[in-house]
Amino acid sequence: MMLRTCRALRSQAGSPSGDWQPLNFDASAFHHKTTSELARAFLVLRLCAWPPLVTHGLALQAWSQRLLGSRVSGALLRASMYGQFVAGETAEEVRGCVRQLQGLGLRPLLAVPIEEEPDSAAKTGESWYEDNLSAMLRCVELSRGLTETPGPTGNSFMQMRVTALTSIRLCKELTSWIRRPGSSSELSPERLAEAMDSGRSLQVSCLNAEQNRHLQASLSRLHRVAQHARARHVRLLVDAEYTFINPALSLLVATLAVRWNSPREGGPWVWNTYQAYLQDTHERLRHDAEAAHRAGLAFGVKLVRGAYLEKERMVARLQGTKDPTQPDYEATGRSYSQCLELMLNHVSHHGPMCHLMVASHNEESVHQATRRMWELGIPLDGPVCFGQLLGMCDHVSLALGQAGYAVYKSIPYGSLEEVIPYLIRRAQENRSVLQGARREQMLLSQELWRRLLGRSPRVSS
Ligand SMILES: Cc1cc2nc3c(=O)[nH]c(=O)nc-3n(C[C@H](O)[C@H](O)[C@H](O)COP(=O)(O)OP(=O)(O)OC[C@H]3O[C@@H](n4cnc5c(N)ncnc54)[C@H](O)[C@@H]3O)c2cc1C
Repeated sequence: MMLRTCRALRSQAGSPSGDWQPLNFDASAFHHKTTSELARAFLVLRLCAWPPLVTHGLALQAWSQRLLGSRVSGALLRASMYGQFVAGETAEEVRGCVRQLQGLGLRPLLAVPIEEEPDSAAKTGESWYEDNLSAMLRCVELSRGLTETPGPTGNSFMQMRVTALTSIRLCKELTSWIRRPGSSSELSPERLAEAMDSGRSLQVSCLNAEQNRHLQASLSRLHRVAQHARARHVRLLVDAEYTFINPALSLLVATLAVRWNSPREGGPWVWNTYQAYLQDTHERLRHDAEAAHRAGLAFGVKLVRGAYLEKERMVARLQGTKDPTQPDYEATGRSYSQCLELMLNHVSHHGPMCHLMVASHNEESVHQATRRMWELGIPLDGPVCFGQLLGMCDHVSLALGQAGYAVYKSIPYGSLEEVIPYLIRRAQENRSVLQGARREQMLLSQELWRRLLGRSPRVSS
């Protein structure tokens, strides 16, 4: 049955007659999932779409621990949210989850679940960031070890959060300096890359002595992760965060790119993330793609819609500044579509020097990407791949994977205590996505009813 499903889905990637055929994102992709997996997915997505649960998630977790004890409350979480969205705690559990995904044609994109910088980080000097560095180096090793089905050119992928390795305060400081006219030569990626590579002391005039020391230590940590990732053939996908720090994050990514995306390294090893919900993203993406091409650097892009909409708008309101986000959902969709078009054209012209991850659960965006890849002659498993979160929109991931596209599931892992606060915060940031997962719930319930009534599966033709 599984084979029949795969064949039917695979035939939709592009028909032998030469026409592009849209993939079917329907319940047929769920046929090889167990009934308990489907029931858990249905229940968890239903619960996550209930706003009070997401808003008061941390308080509810603490309350259930007090009432039921940590063993029972932990078991409940493992059977629900943790089981749905997390690969496991130990390397063996992560491998087990990844083997299952690989059997379905999907690939891992590991994400170390590091919460936002605690207040204590400032007091403990560099130690919080050094601990995170160790976790990232372990993640590189784990990612390498998982590569049974390697990506294009035999590489693995992992996600990296720059604010796990450097303080938000420093990023804010750098951002306000970058935005000032005339700051470019002092904070150029080339100058920072030279200091990062040589380990020579760097003095930036907008920073005090302590901040300069922290910048130096941060550059050294970033360098060590990139160096290790390069040695182990793991591509680093750097997350985009808030507009009050993104320019600093992009500067640090550009610094790593000077060193690790040069033609002799055969990259791109360090990718940046572009958030289509920001009004200036299309222009920035065009500028950065052209600049990388002119500098002879490989260019890697994870294209997302953006996760921090509510906070971006709240900050703009509180500071009385212009809202940097698109005015509505449709405008974000148009911006995503334009960025996608720009990048696919760039990939088709600059091939192996330019890579793209279409990181979206949106069916229209995925259809657009597959159609344009077909029209531009971009291979299914080449420089363009797709990304979705573990436990979300499996009907889209499975249809893509079974049709032969490269699909990565972003996979957090770690202990219950480490991951649950991270998951709740991610759920709060992705509120609109969880509320929008109605179609997935409908497909899951369709498949559950089919099994309950003992009807035979419908395979799309
Ligand atoms: C592999 C992967 C990596 C990711 N990495 C990052 C990252 O580094 N940084 C980051 O910020 N996000 C990241 N995300 C999350 C991503 O930005 C989106 O939040 C998420 O994927 C939902 O968008 P969508 O395209 O999947 O789906 P949809 O459900 O079609 O879109 C929802 C999105 O539309 C936008 N939106 C919703 N309502 C409005 C409105 N009223 N006005 C304007 N826009 C609106 C928001 O961006 C919202 O997230 C990542 C997602 C994936 C799958």
